[in-house]
Amino acid sequence: MASSPDLFPNVAFSDVSAAPAAPAADGATAAFGLGAATGAPRLSLVKAGKAEAEPTVEIDLADAQVFKLGPREWLCVCDESEAKAGVEEKSFSRAIKVVLRTEAESKAFSLAFQRWKHQVISGKAGERLENGSIIASKSKFDTKIEASSARMYFHYYGQLLHQQNMLQDFVRTGTYYAAVMENRSDFEGRVVVDVGAGSGILSLFAAQAGARHVYAVEASEMAEHAQRLISGNPSLGQRITVIKGKVEEVELPEKADILISEPMGTLLVNERMLESYVIARDRFLAPDGKMFPTTGRIHMAPFSDEYLYVEMANKALFWQQHNFFGVDLTPLHGSAFQGYFSQPVVDAFDPRLLISPPTYHTLDFTSMKEEELYEIDIPLSFVASVGTRVHGLACWFDVLFNGSTVQRWLSTAPGSPTTHWYQLRCVLSQPLYVMAGQEITGRLHLVAHSSQSYTIYLTMSAKMWGVGAEQGGILQTSTGKLELKEPYYRLSQPQSYMLPQDQQQQQLPSLQPQGSEQQMQEGLSPGITIDQDQDCGLN
Ligand code: SAH
Repeated sequence: MASSPDLFPNVAFSDVSAAPAAPAADGATAAFGLGAATGAPRLSLVKAGKAEAEPTVEIDLADAQVFKLGPREWLCVCDESEAKAGVEEKSFSRAIKVVLRTEAESKAFSLAFQRWKHQVISGKAGERLENGSIIASKSKFDTKIEASSARMYFHYYGQLLHQQNMLQDFVRTGTYYAAVMENRSDFEGRVVVDVGAGSGILSLFAAQAGARHVYAVEASEMAEHAQRLISGNPSLGQRITVIKGKVEEVELPEKADILISEPMGTLLVNERMLESYVIARDRFLAPDGKMFPTTGRIHMAPFSDEYLYVEMANKALFWQQHNFFGVDLTPLHGSAFQGYFSQPVVDAFDPRLLISPPTYHTLDFTSMKEEELYEIDIPLSFVASVGTRVHGLACWFDVLFNGSTVQRWLSTAPGSPTTHWYQLRCVLSQPLYVMAGQEITGRLHLVAHSSQSYTIYLTMSAKMWGVGAEQGGILQTSTGKLELKEPYYRLSQPQSYMLPQDQQQQQLPSLQPQGSEQQMQEGLSPGITIDQDQDCGLN
């Protein structure tokens, strides 16, 4: 948040609303800051030779707007009112033209205008103003999320390389573009809020589709880059206002007809940004407003992947050594083994590894309560199509843009074009044995935590066949506790596309998307350490 005043020396300004028009003052200083008396953000214009304490013009930024007149010229318009004794109060607009020295300064001026106007007015709890401090309760975000997690999270998204990685996911960005453009009527003449705008790309799409105004809300330092991108596309940018802050905290001047956002993380819910999307709905969306995306679904199916299982179990073999420089490592083998299985596996797998038709769990962003995302409990029930070892549960998601003209799905399913989300598999340390036609039951229980992710509790059961089954069955049950924030990115490993019958044949080509692998890894999710020893596989 801006706190020390922003100064622009050597500007020229004139009050173009004065009659007769006031002569331009050259060599003046424009200063953004907080009013000493009010603590409210304001722009002061001080004529050359005058002390800063006696500004010639003061503009209250709370209700001021700025219009670009030329590469270095801005028109600041604000509301003024005049009440004379015995005369009705008159309100009118005041327009001050400000001319900056260079184009670079001109851009910085408009950025400073937006920054002071929006951030300072929507000040946060505990933040100091020159004139005191804003006393407000902590925002919903701050009460739920640990400060250190949030710091790392927004630091990650503040970097252009991570935004680029998302932009380069063609399935993702192309589907958003199509969903917006094919549903122009949902955007034309409408007020849009871009929830977590990042680089501002979705705001620019909305403006292309004819939005009347877009508020691009972004909490990370990326807001400044977004402002630059938007200013650099002036025909669209003039209808977009970038607001730096959390959607839980900023204030907007009007209600939105439609929200657009890309809040999906691995397994849909990672990063806990869906909660911010739902909060933004409650804070900004007009009744009957639309949401893009509208709904999301988590899909799940049991899978069998012997290669993956052996690969994971083998990782712990290191701890089986009895004489590692004279030290017996075996006391830690059990913990290491469990540790590997607590990591959900992220990669693109062949859908033939699934052993049952998938089921799904729907989240309706337009109607769900934010609290419903704190704990998600999904009962599982499948029928095995083959007799095999079941190694765990495979998961992916899709979201629907329920437009007035076209319904479009963005899918991250195995076998579909790969996205930077890939798919996620929870591997059980104890596989289950099933016969074709046998029922597999269980539960996927996701519990949110303050590090912007979830703990996954997975239970899968199958009745044993054989002697026990005839007497009503003996249940085999396998459970796992996994940490969604710490996945195992298995992207450069040979992919387990082969079914046993394919093993003699040549390996299928990798389903990896274009772009450097490291980039894709970096793009998966913030705050995650990459296991460097993975860089030894295909490619
Ligand atoms: N909309 C962009 C970026 C999506 S990534 C695109 O589609 O390319 C999600 C973005 O939301 C990140 O830039 C992140 O910093 C921002 N974000 C996450 N939670 C937020 C919150 N509570 N308030 C504001 N921005 C948030």
